[in-house]
Amino acid sequence: MAVRAGKIICSGLNYRDTVLEDGAKFPEKPLLFLKPDTAIIGDGEAIVKPEEVKILTIEAELAVVIGKKGKNIPREKAWDYIRGCRAANDVTAKDAQKEDIQWTRAKSYDTFLPLSPEVPVNGPLEDVEVCSYINGKLAQKGNIRDMIFDIPYLVSYISGIMTLEPGDIILTGTPGGYGKEVRPGDEVRIEISGVGRITNEVTI
Ligand code: MG
Repeated sequence: MAVRAGKIICSGLNYRDTVLEDGAKFPEKPLLFLKPDTAIIGDGEAIVKPEEVKILTIEAELAVVIGKKGKNIPREKAWDYIRGCRAANDVTAKDAQKEDIQWTRAKSYDTFLPLSPEVPVNGPLEDVEVCSYINGKLAQKGNIRDMIFDIPYLVSYISGIMTLEPGDIILTGTPGGYGKEVRPGDEVRIEISGVGRITNEVTI
């Protein structure tokens, strides 16, 4: 527990099938929000459903970890600023997300960010499967090739807004099939090919 990170910047609606499923308009620029590092848990730790939350959902995501300080990073240099990657679960209180204009509450409860250990990255990732399973049953299956804004685009765009620093984490969005509800007693597994997996049970 108590894994400290720098900023955790998240990208919403970043896979084509996710946007189509939502019936949303294709975004013209990345949709960004933040999660606090106090939400991070590790493998085997419980995702705790807050009492006031009615609908808890999961989102399998590839997370990249920044290794070098940068501002206004050009797209073609973005991979030089990435030192590692992790499997992430962007747990969401769906009812809170719908009630509030800002997503801070929906995304920020303690235990709402399961993260696998960091593995090093030495160059571009291009063919990576992003999957989630609920009680062993496949819930989401996507590939980072289907991102609307790819990883270099996200790093460049975000660094135009805020200085990126070593340890900062970018969650790159979730593929289709997302938004499946999980309940206490369910076991959730996120698997990112070549990166890792993380398993967590939902509890009250
Ligand atoms: Mg997400």
